Amino acid sequence: MAVAFEPLTPQQTFRFACHPKVPCFNHCCRDLTQHLTPYDILRLKACLNLTSDAFLKAYTLENTGPRSGLPIITLKPIGQERRCPFVTASGCRVYADRPASCRTYPLARAVGIRPGNGERIEQFALIREPHCQGFRAAQRQTAAEWVADQELALYNEMNDLLLRLIQQKTRRGKPPLTPSERNLFHLALYDLDRFRSRLAAGGLRGAGDLPSTLAADTARTGDDVDLLRFAIQWVEAVLFP
Ligand code: SF4
Ligand code: SF4
Repeated sequence: MAVAFEPLTPQQTFRFACHPKVPCFNHCCRDLTQHLTPYDILRLKACLNLTSDAFLKAYTLENTGPRSGLPIITLKPIGQERRCPFVTASGCRVYADRPASCRTYPLARAVGIRPGNGERIEQFALIREPHCQGFRAAQRQTAAEWVADQELALYNEMNDLLLRLIQQKTRRGKPPLTPSERNLFHLALYDLDRFRSRLAAGGLRGAGDLPSTLAADTARTGDDVDLLRFAIQWVEAVLFP
């Protein structure tokens, strides 16, 4: 049986629950192609008490989008089963900080930004995969209840900022990033600790010209979420003006 995508209306409920007693427990953490967003990396490196650089080297693979020139970061799978590096017999060892896509499953979330007023348009679909037995549960919920239950609000907010940034690149008709532009994008969004050091040392062009006083504050206070918000603004100003 093939995977089916079923659009969900905001009022519609779906049956689903995932817990260690399902017979398929951990099956979906194999055969992995897991993309990571900047906010996913921020959470995982904090969970593992690693710098961004150490996390990227130990746990990720990096590619470059052939048409966009943007960096693409995925979790480095293990062995022939292509297991997630964080799956254990008792479950996910980074559960509290697992990536947005792990939290969102079995939903898919599509977001558009309405040009002009910037309003966010959000739609959900159910990804019905034959191997997943979570659909046999009695528990029912709407997409909004699932998003709340999985604590996705900040993940979605930060990932939508990234989406807006990439849409800005498209709107500006920007050609694929050059290797040096790609490196700046990577530094700012994925290697946040090195970005912080460069910012604190005054080594980032244009950082003092942004219409924000966030730079000095974030360099001093150490809040990674604020720093990532600043980094997204900086990339937009420097690469997609
Ligand atoms: S119920 Fe679905 S999501 Fe949960 S472990 Fe099984 S395959 Fe994965
Ligand atoms: S991060 Fe956790 S939930 Fe996500 S694929 Fe890896 S082990 Fe599974």
